[in-house]
Amino acid sequence: MTTQNPGRSTVVEDINRYSDDARRWTAEAIKAVQADAQRSADTHMIRVPLPEEWGIDLYLKDESSHPTGSLKHRLARSLFLHALCNGWIRPNRPVVEASSGSTAVSEAYFSRLIGVPFIAVMSKTTSARKVELIESYGGQCHFVDSPDQVYTVAADLARETDGHYMDQFTYAERATDWRGNNNIAESIFDQLRLEPHPEPAWIVATAGTGGTSATLARYVRYTGRTTGICVADPDNSAFFAGWRDENPDATTDRGSRIEGIGRQRMEASFMPASIDRMMHVPDAASIAAIVLLDRLIGRKAGGSTGTGLYAALKIVSDMVAAGERGSVVALICDGGDRYLDKYYNADWLREEGFDVDAHTARLDEFMRTGRL
Ligand SMILES: *Cc1c(COP(=O)(O)O)cnc(C)c1O
Repeated sequence: MTTQNPGRSTVVEDINRYSDDARRWTAEAIKAVQADAQRSADTHMIRVPLPEEWGIDLYLKDESSHPTGSLKHRLARSLFLHALCNGWIRPNRPVVEASSGSTAVSEAYFSRLIGVPFIAVMSKTTSARKVELIESYGGQCHFVDSPDQVYTVAADLARETDGHYMDQFTYAERATDWRGNNNIAESIFDQLRLEPHPEPAWIVATAGTGGTSATLARYVRYTGRTTGICVADPDNSAFFAGWRDENPDATTDRGSRIEGIGRQRMEASFMPASIDRMMHVPDAASIAAIVLLDRLIGRKAGGSTGTGLYAALKIVSDMVAAGERGSVVALICDGGDRYLDKYYNADWLREEGFDVDAHTARLDEFMRTGRL
């Protein structure tokens, strides 16, 4: 068969793929996703009590209060709108995603909302509670042995099922409306408006896709603010070394044990040049931080909240030492109820070889002295 060169054709060629049905279906799907946003309230900013004399206000934006329990609710909403507007999601065709669990929970929810099947491709170490949640939303779970297999398996499954591979690790940064539209950054600054220090010295995020930190970093520049953006990274993640060495090819040989964050490669949605500061936080320190958080505000959170909180406390310690006053913001990324058999389970901690006590002692000392 020869391919005709349209440039040489002498007749008008006109291919019309417009479909009333497709346009109507997409409009209904977008309306359903927007209606979910309309029913939702903003997430709380919680003040973490620190000794008054330090003169520093620490806030946690509570992203666990979204309908699907994590900051991935925002991402899933953005990814669905982006994919629907691109014409990538079609009726009765599955949405497929590579995930460490939280995104899959939120995408299963939105898939059900618009009436398409959903398949999550995840490491077999994903917490059982997340698997239950995905299935409760009608999603299907497909497990792989090693977390670095999720990308190709998800892409293959999408091809085989004629579905759409959502690919959060590529699209997170561009699906989110970083200029505003009540994104996480705009919401934080709006909520701090009446505080003593409405422009935080630092906002601390963690990185899974890198999308949250990209949105924060772009927004502070776009709005001309001085706030620094710090990313806290767990053990076994490529982001810290990749950022430090400006090496886009950085990798690690095993997966992160802090669910939701830390990747074995520099994901496309992670925007290194936009990040002002990075901190590598040992996993045992992350877990000590969520134990402290429970004591301070009576709330259990996931491990990634601990990673960010530990880094935020380190920043507070630096500010105390320098005699600086101001505010610092970190995130509650998801709740601890998903991890009772992991981060809150002494047997699991022992099996994984985490020495949490040493870090707990350091954090106790910090709460007394302001030095970490
Ligand atoms: C995804 C995730 C993060 C990091 O957010 P990104 O925007 O993907 O970088 C942090 N904590 C949890 C629990 C997550 O699921």
